[in-house]
Amino acid sequence: MAEDVETTIRGPQAYSLAARALQLMQEAQVWPTALNYELWLHYARQPDGKLGRAIQDLLEFKTPITEAVSEQLAADHLPRGGLQDQIKDASEALGRELAAVSQAVEAAQRNQAAYGKTLEGASQGLTAGAEAPAFKALVDTLAAATKKVQSHSKTLEQRLAATTTEVDVLRNRLEEARRDATTDGLTQLSNRKSFDEHFERLRGLSQNGRGPLTLALLDIDHFKKFNDTWGHQTGDQVLRFVASVLARHGKSPRFAARYGGEEFAMLFAGENPVQVMSALETIREEIAGRVLKRRSTNEDLGAVTISMGVAVLRTGEKCASLTERADAALYSSKRNGRNRVSNAESLPAAA
Ligand code: C2E
Repeated sequence: MAEDVETTIRGPQAYSLAARALQLMQEAQVWPTALNYELWLHYARQPDGKLGRAIQDLLEFKTPITEAVSEQLAADHLPRGGLQDQIKDASEALGRELAAVSQAVEAAQRNQAAYGKTLEGASQGLTAGAEAPAFKALVDTLAAATKKVQSHSKTLEQRLAATTTEVDVLRNRLEEARRDATTDGLTQLSNRKSFDEHFERLRGLSQNGRGPLTLALLDIDHFKKFNDTWGHQTGDQVLRFVASVLARHGKSPRFAARYGGEEFAMLFAGENPVQVMSALETIREEIAGRVLKRRSTNEDLGAVTISMGVAVLRTGEKCASLTERADAALYSSKRNGRNRVSNAESLPAAA
């Protein structure tokens, strides 16, 4: 799967994509509303995708792009719209299930009340001293009423079992939607949005005395050259390879994400600098030590290397400042020959 818009707009192609989206909007004479911009970003990135084709159809037939049309496009095609729809569908289905269960419970209550009345009538019949035929009729009535109640209890039981299954299915579907919204499609690592949320949360925990927080920014060296030489498909495989190594070393409580383009980020909560540097060195060596093959031709692609910059959160520091320092360290790694880890704390004060 190609990378998604969320990733592209934080990567090297960000501004050319944005410019192209605006140009297409102007050509189509649609208002540059936030929603239209989002739609046209997707269209500019993938004109042959489903959304792109839907927009082209509308333009071809000169359909005015009203707000309602844009909203419909978003609901049908935008990932966020899809997620909202899934949540809406799931909550509607849940509502239907609960209504059905509550009806079944009400019916069971009515039956219980009717059964109670039958029993009451029977006990009155008994105290009046029943003759044998009347007594038999009474027993028959009681047996029939008991059977009815049993059957209703069974229906209720089945209804509840079906609801439990349905609720499990809905829960899984929502979980899947949540995962999709936080995962980068190409590498299956967490995406930038999810990273930003984790970063802010872990920063808060660290500032509240829950141990140090270290940010590492990682960038594949000469990735553009690699892409130009071997093509985008192989470039994508390289991204997936690097991501797979990060995923292996970035398991919870660590956190690894695709940060944008060929850049990745890792968060280390509660680990000391020696532990963090040792983990990053292992990652660096693992990546640099693997000779990759081009899948289509089996040619040797050689090894890729990554440069990294690390910074530890300071008291009172915001995410943006920590990122800036990690980025300066990453830049230092690039400047000093790549394939290395630089620590912001060891950079000259000016950096
Ligand atoms: P993938 O192609 O989906 O492969 C997933 C996993 O299957 C790999 O995880 C590896 O454990 C195994 N695997 C697949 N093909 C081979 C193979 O030909 N030989 C061996 N020994 N194992 C294989 P891994 O290594 O962590 O790679 C993750 C992803 O990174 C791969 O996903 C692929 O997209 C990319 N990748 C890794 N190595 C190479 C490579 O040498 N060439 C290319 N083009 N891509 C690679």
